[in-house]
Amino acid sequence: MTDYTVEKAQLIMRLRAQSIRNSEVLSALEKIPRDLFLPQALRKHAYEDASLPIANGQTISQPYIVARMTEALEISQKHRVLEIGTGSGYQAAILSHLSRRVYTIERLRPLLVQAENLFRKLQLTNITTLHGDGYRGWPEAAPFDRIIVTCRCDELPMKLLDQLKDDGILIAPIGVTGQEALFRVSKKAGKGEMEQLMPVRFVPMVSGTGHDA
Ligand code: SAH
Repeated sequence: MTDYTVEKAQLIMRLRAQSIRNSEVLSALEKIPRDLFLPQALRKHAYEDASLPIANGQTISQPYIVARMTEALEISQKHRVLEIGTGSGYQAAILSHLSRRVYTIERLRPLLVQAENLFRKLQLTNITTLHGDGYRGWPEAAPFDRIIVTCRCDELPMKLLDQLKDDGILIAPIGVTGQEALFRVSKKAGKGEMEQLMPVRFVPMVSGTGHDA
């Protein structure tokens, strides 16, 4: 197995320079081997700050976006976090270091199976997975302290807001293709207060489960 210690340290330095300040987030990014979440041929690019293709036409987000989204969630070790869009499992692995338990939902089974294998290999035992449609959320495990959506939704999914605790935070890319932005939604007295953070590009959130891309 290639040791990417130097590349990893350089990535952390670049993230710091791009004003990622939360040392716990940075240390989670330093601990999780992003290379293992990528197809073999792309592993040498794992510590460049780029989004990269994974199986089934999906993508792993760029480390800067993962760091920004994680920072914006303001997670503590007490929190139960729901993620929509497991994909490679990389974001879930980062969250597992920072929270009590991560619940992650993926609609494409082959991706989920690969991610589950990695969670086992890396002994990330506080991640619970579900093959399902993220639009439904995970009512059986709700309410959550934090929710992170890692695929683009046209509008704020109300079912997810319902499954967020009061004073909880939800982070999601929202908007039509090409004009989406990252939003932080804070739930106050049952209502979502939306704050726009930055423009982003994400693969779309798709209803139902299946093997299509
Ligand atoms: N968090 C991932 C990035 C995933 S890309 C990572 O760290 O690698 C977005 C993922 O959302 C894709 O895998 C896609 O299949 C999934 N997705 C899209 N619509 C979904 C839905 N309705 N429910 C669950 N997952 C969905």
